[in-house]
Amino acid sequence: MIDEKEWARAAEALAGAEEVAVACHVFPDGDALGSMLGIGLYLRRLGKKVWMGWGSPQLRVPPQYAFLPGLDLIGGDRPPAPEVFLSVDCAQDTRLELLLPVFKAAGTRIDLDHHATNPGFGDINLVEPAAASSCELVYELIRRMGGVPNTEEATALYTGIVTDTGRFQYSSTSPATLRVAADLREQGVDHTMVSTEIFESAPFGYLHTLGIVLSRAKLEDGLVWSWLELKDLNGTKLDEAEDMINLLRAVREAGVAVLLKETEPGHYKVSMRSRGEVDVAQIAAAFGGGGHARAAGFPAPGGVEETIQAIRSALAPAASGAPAGAPERAGA
Ligand code: AMP
Ligand code: MN
Ligand code: MN
Repeated sequence: MIDEKEWARAAEALAGAEEVAVACHVFPDGDALGSMLGIGLYLRRLGKKVWMGWGSPQLRVPPQYAFLPGLDLIGGDRPPAPEVFLSVDCAQDTRLELLLPVFKAAGTRIDLDHHATNPGFGDINLVEPAAASSCELVYELIRRMGGVPNTEEATALYTGIVTDTGRFQYSSTSPATLRVAADLREQGVDHTMVSTEIFESAPFGYLHTLGIVLSRAKLEDGLVWSWLELKDLNGTKLDEAEDMINLLRAVREAGVAVLLKETEPGHYKVSMRSRGEVDVAQIAAAFGGGGHARAAGFPAPGGVEETIQAIRSALAPAASGAPAGAPERAGA
């Protein structure tokens, strides 16, 4: 539970600030973009100078999120030491990557997040692992600042909720989650448009890329895994492969699903999913990443074989019921 005092401190810091930087994690997903835009647009509406973005050299928005309101406002001249820096949906400060020095130089740092592995890296920490999405926490923050999201802000927040709950299906979906979603619908969110854009729309090349990933899948001792190389993309954007891991997770014979996605030559982003028994957040954390018990990830500088071998070793104690030890990091 987030302390009342912490909520009040955050609301006060934001209400009093003239200039705020709002940043989400690199390789942003729906919850990262939704929470950044939801609060960023709201703070702009209050007349504040707001910088929005994340710590990659270029701010490319995954095509399935191109409908989000306010994308034209992201990036631009970044304050080197903002009065307030609000980090959203980042499990740890390293997820800010290039923005980490800006975060450290800020007057007041706020960490708003829902990952169980979040250590509370802000001066003010709005960290609630029981929340299904960061967008729910942003909604609460706006309400505590005395506001009500307008249709655009509500659309951004609804996007994070619908993506991080797997369309309201994951166990994290609480009555509170559904109430927030209902409130947002009342603000005029076009939920059919949001779902169609995110879940029911892909370029033709996606079919081929998905075919490659599925045909490579291997099942070994309760682990189902596959990988995606840059050369397999056929014009598909890597961000559009976000959902492929969920198909691997559907395999009944497996407790854990892993997908390695090549982000730059020889470097992979690992997605892990659990069907319930294994806490993949612990395993990802041991490799320098993080996440939730059933969905986690980490960056792997090593190759496919090396990385999967390290994961197998990390899973072995978990599968036998013993706590997962800190495995050796794959590659460097
Ligand atoms: P993904 O597999 O990218 O969909 O990520 C699953 C979950 O793990 C999300 O909640 C991510 O925010 C989290 N996650 C992914 N990669 C990392 C990382 N390198 N560090 C911390 N959390 C991560
Ligand atoms: Mn996220
Ligand atoms: Mn999230």
